[in-house]
Amino acid sequence: MRILVQKFGGTSVATREIREQAIEHIMEAKSLGYSVVVVVSAMGRKGDPYATDSLLSLIDEQDRTSRREVDLLMSCGELISGVVFAAQLRAHGVETTVLNGGQAGITTNDDFSRAQIMTINPKRILQELEHDRVVIVTGFQGWTKDYETTTLGRGGSDTTATALGVALDAEVVDIFTDVEGIMTADPRIVDDARRLRAVTYSEICNLAYQGAKVIHPRAVEIAMQKNIPIRVRATSSKDEGTLVTSQTGTDRIEGELRDQLVTGITQTANVTQIKVFAEPGMSGMQLKVFQAMAANGISVDFINVNPRGVAYTVSDNDTDKALRVLEDMGYRPEVTRGCAKVSAVGAGIAGVPGVMALILDAITSEGIEILQSADSHTTIWCLVRGDDMARAVRALHNKFELHAL
Ligand code: ADP
Ligand code: MG
Repeated sequence: MRILVQKFGGTSVATREIREQAIEHIMEAKSLGYSVVVVVSAMGRKGDPYATDSLLSLIDEQDRTSRREVDLLMSCGELISGVVFAAQLRAHGVETTVLNGGQAGITTNDDFSRAQIMTINPKRILQELEHDRVVIVTGFQGWTKDYETTTLGRGGSDTTATALGVALDAEVVDIFTDVEGIMTADPRIVDDARRLRAVTYSEICNLAYQGAKVIHPRAVEIAMQKNIPIRVRATSSKDEGTLVTSQTGTDRIEGELRDQLVTGITQTANVTQIKVFAEPGMSGMQLKVFQAMAANGISVDFINVNPRGVAYTVSDNDTDKALRVLEDMGYRPEVTRGCAKVSAVGAGIAGVPGVMALILDAITSEGIEILQSADSHTTIWCLVRGDDMARAVRALHNKFELHAL
């Protein structure tokens, strides 16, 4: 059996018209002889009636005390989507079965709202495929060993798709979405962002961890374990999208290998920069600050420790809590809210002299102040004010000539 997993994201199942286009991809795969497993997300995005966020908003935040019930509620979005999708698919004469995550054999731990997949037993799916049915699996969820419904957290449907791909030894996992593929930058910010023909698992993981929301990094890591290729494609077109595999150097443009320094530019908004200065008599302050953040469950990023003090970032949502902790310790932190982390990602950066200089030049010549910067062998990050984020992303995209040729 040649199995294809096709995942359709929220916008790809939102209306009858777009579902019709999704169905064309399924019919095409079937005509090529594939057995097809479809993974669906909840219909639409924030604000749409059956989207996950809308379901969640039915209960006030302070009343969400039962994590178990929150997951029961959130799992409904995919269930609605799956059943609606199946009805439309059947109208095309295609036999289909809808399975929720647990019925599909997905067992998770009991960490509600961010559960991890422990095992997948593909028996039921395989039985359905044997009968030539398209199996529709509700994304983003599973069951614990005690049959409690759990959800997998943001981007969870991507994880469902690649985990099923691994369990079923699929030939390919298709991630259908509302963009043509993985782009050199978020197309909502950069008009002339270019589609990448092919990227490696580690490149897309780095892009995704730095904010490119097109696919969840956890989903990529799962596919990588068994080398299952992923294609990120637009539901509304027949283009092949971006191929994600372990092979390097496959991004060819008009037959020529492009020796890229930088693969893409990404951004993460809504972060706060906190600086704490060491004053006389404050011994070990640097260590105490990070111990206190950890003890209070505040995740920190962009850490810079030096003899004069520390600088780091937290999510804007955690700023007030972090400040209370620091003030209780007797510190007087300096705070800049609403910042953004802008990153240039590329395996080609490693060891190449002058990349940082190019980046600083691109950003500062736009008159943008860099509040902090850091680098690793694949990524260079700059922290800027939120208002400067889009301009900084465009400046970097131009500097590295990532636009369409
Ligand atoms: P879905 O509902 O299909 O899962 P997502 O919103 O999770 O869709 O992901 C698709 C979105 O990712 C696009 O609409 C695009 O705005 C955003 N995006 C951010 N960075 C990139 C990038 N580098 N390439 C492609 N899309 C990106
Ligand atoms: Mg998504």
